[in-house]
Amino acid sequence: YTAKRNRSGTAMYDAEADSHSSEQLGVIGELHRAIAGDELVLHYQPKVATGTGELVGVEALVRWQHPVRGLLPPGEFIPQAEDDEIIVALTDAILEMALVQHRTWRDAGVELPVAVNIAAGGLYDNAFPDRVAAALARHEVPGAMLTLEITETSIITDPAEVQTILDRLRDLGVKLSIDDFGTGYSSMAYLQTMPLTELKIDRRFIGSVHESPSDEAIVRAILELARALGLKVVAEGVESADALALLETMGCPFAQGYHMSRPLPAGDVLTWAAGRVGVPVNS
Ligand code: C2E
Ligand code: MG
Ligand code: MG
Ligand code: MG
Repeated sequence: YTAKRNRSGTAMYDAEADSHSSEQLGVIGELHRAIAGDELVLHYQPKVATGTGELVGVEALVRWQHPVRGLLPPGEFIPQAEDDEIIVALTDAILEMALVQHRTWRDAGVELPVAVNIAAGGLYDNAFPDRVAAALARHEVPGAMLTLEITETSIITDPAEVQTILDRLRDLGVKLSIDDFGTGYSSMAYLQTMPLTELKIDRRFIGSVHESPSDEAIVRAILELARALGLKVVAEGVESADALALLETMGCPFAQGYHMSRPLPAGDVLTWAAGRVGVPVNS
């Protein structure tokens, strides 16, 4: 256990520090059960074309249907999993579920590109591109139907190693997106060398973009940068019609956010899409 000393020098049990580490162990142990026992659930948030509202894809966002604690958001377990080798099994399980769902939609006549978030621990694994290739082949999904969302922080951890891994993923046709762009404290040199397809502007610049001149300036600069580099741009966290309208005026091509849709259970996505134009039908 963790000991600290009080003013008289006696060792005291530090309940706070100890509960943290045992809680952490508990979460990891339970996650093994969750992965094996189908307790993980993916919700899917629509990604739309800003101008037309057309559905262009979905992002898979994991939740944990915990038998006691209820439906847990990723913030309750992904950070712990990232510090443990379980992130590899978790990443595989999530990728598998997303590809199965993609196939289910395709079999229903709807070809819906799907994005999966990949934590650093999932990406920094030389076998990862091969496992992605095998999963795509197993489900007969073309690489171009899959986008992997990674963060700037993941890239700068070891740019040389990640370059090799990203190049192999791109060789599969998989698309690569930088999530939470603009918040990563990194140099932008990687934008010239990594085989990227998309930038997702972090929601902290988007939520109030219509009422904050400085947010608007940053979004304009990112749009300009992306245009020059030939990257697609997605605005994350669009919560109002005003923000969406400004983004359209500014030429931001794609958007996600509660204003259009919260992340939905898989079974609700086509119902949501049926009320909209431009559903990518494939029958
Ligand atoms: P992210 O990838 O940047 O996902 C966007 C998060 O913002 C999601 O939260 C989404 O529900 C939320 N969001 C979307 N639109 C809005 C909006 O208009 N307003 C606000 N306030 N929030 C919005 P969620 O699902 O709780 O996920 C949080 C983070 O957890 C994700 O951020 C991602 O970093 C991580 N995550 C989620 N699923 C996975 C996964 O399958 N694997 C890994 N490695 N990480 C995941
Ligand atoms: Mg994401
Ligand atoms: Mg994000
Ligand atoms: Mg995020």
